[in-house]
Amino acid sequence: MMEILDIHTHRLDAQGALISVDPRQFDPQPGRWYSVGFHPWHDIGTLTTADWAVLEQCAAHPQVLAIGETGMDSLRGGDINIQATAFLRHLQLAHAIGKPVVAHCVRTAQRLLNVRRQAGLTGVPLVIHGMRGNERVAQLLLDSGCFLSFGPRFNPAALAATPLDRLLIETDDSQTPINEVATLVAQALHLTPQQIKDTAKANAQMLLGQPTH
Ligand SMILES: [Zn+2]
Repeated sequence: MMEILDIHTHRLDAQGALISVDPRQFDPQPGRWYSVGFHPWHDIGTLTTADWAVLEQCAAHPQVLAIGETGMDSLRGGDINIQATAFLRHLQLAHAIGKPVVAHCVRTAQRLLNVRRQAGLTGVPLVIHGMRGNERVAQLLLDSGCFLSFGPRFNPAALAATPLDRLLIETDDSQTPINEVATLVAQALHLTPQQIKDTAKANAQMLLGQPTH
């Protein structure tokens, strides 16, 4: 039975987590779950047709529960238009195979949402991972139906603005264990760590669905 607490990590040995990998390095291990995508920091402008085909192939694997990490970053990763095009391709793939998207979003929330809306893909569930934006950005994303995933560092007002049924937690590339992230989030919300863990697990289950095997 799948039980995912950590919605986004890059640690390949993580248990109870959605492990984000580049499809060219996809090597599924028993009992682990993955998301596959091309990170916006990497050379997405040089991706070949063959690279995109590898992504499509991996995306259909039963241990792959989401597409990502994809997204946009106005501070890193080169031409923002190329990032937008790559993000759109991930969204289209996610739509085609019925899986959600895990997105990196740094100072690009409006742009990200515009790409999604203009493509008519607002029905694709979107997780904004590593949410560090302020309350206004959080509200913008929430109003568009996004899930927000919080790691060890976050804006407390943005966290407080997030309804519990849209809340996820993650470790990403930090050294902070997921239980500690749950404690930090719980303290900020005046809840118990167990309440946060139960909430995040239930939301992940709802979002990622039950895998076929
Ligand atoms: Zn990441």
